[in-house]
Amino acid sequence: MTKICLTIAGLDPSGGAGIIADIQTFSAFGCFATASITSITFQNTTGVFGAIHQTAESVRGQVEPIVADFEIAALKTGMLPTREVIEEVARLVQSNNLKNFVVDPVVRSTSGFDLIDDEALKVLIEKLFPLADIVTPNLPEAERIANMKIENETNIEQAAKIMQSYGAKNVLIKGGHFEVKSKKAKVKSKDQRPKTEDRTAKDFLFIGNEKHIFEAEWIETTATHGTGCTLAAAVTANLALGKSLIEAVEIAKKFVTRAIKTAPNIGKGHSPINH
Ligand code: PLP
Repeated sequence: MTKICLTIAGLDPSGGAGIIADIQTFSAFGCFATASITSITFQNTTGVFGAIHQTAESVRGQVEPIVADFEIAALKTGMLPTREVIEEVARLVQSNNLKNFVVDPVVRSTSGFDLIDDEALKVLIEKLFPLADIVTPNLPEAERIANMKIENETNIEQAAKIMQSYGAKNVLIKGGHFEVKSKKAKVKSKDQRPKTEDRTAKDFLFIGNEKHIFEAEWIETTATHGTGCTLAAAVTANLALGKSLIEAVEIAKKFVTRAIKTAPNIGKGHSPINH
């Protein structure tokens, strides 16, 4: 039977991130995609220029007919811009008993645009972390959520523990922003960087007390727009397909690596990847 996935996230009209990336990724894994828009952003590959957020009523109005009609096998959240939208999502997940819930705690775009305010981030941690099957911060997000600097792998473990203390059962910290800070890659200037083949892109999955490291080759590229959305969507699709969390993350990581490698290289900034 076709598995149906739901994304509750922002619209990036240029197609690289947000719900368009999610929909493409769900489809790539043979899942049927449904979506609820939390915010209409204005952006392209060079940056985010603004956004008009949706109300809780709008998000509820979008999600309720979908869950009344379809059996949702898995869902993910991306950009949840305000407290009221986050509280509504928590209500929708609980009242509809939605399973396989992936929370991508989107905080800021690569270009530095805040996609959520501080108050909302607090509510996201409080209300959604305990409901999530997995939360998937990148390093800057993990630093902001755990309120600490992350400079090495010990710090990553500490940050994961803090997030677990907030109620997140399982945490995937994406190390893509880590390479310039890691031991092998301790560098001060671009010229001193280790050879590309010496670097890897590492992600760290914490399931309770277990730690699993996923390592992929480092790809030197600017085609990184929407990688976080795509990874979380690929995990969601694979949970919908009945994979274990470890398998889902492993498959998702391979998918993203290939999507970066085969990126279309379009636009004047960070190209989208090949979802
Ligand atoms: N826009 C939307 C709607 C997003 O959900 C995200 C990230 O999740 C971004 C922009 C930022 O994407 P990136 O930092 O990869 O450009």
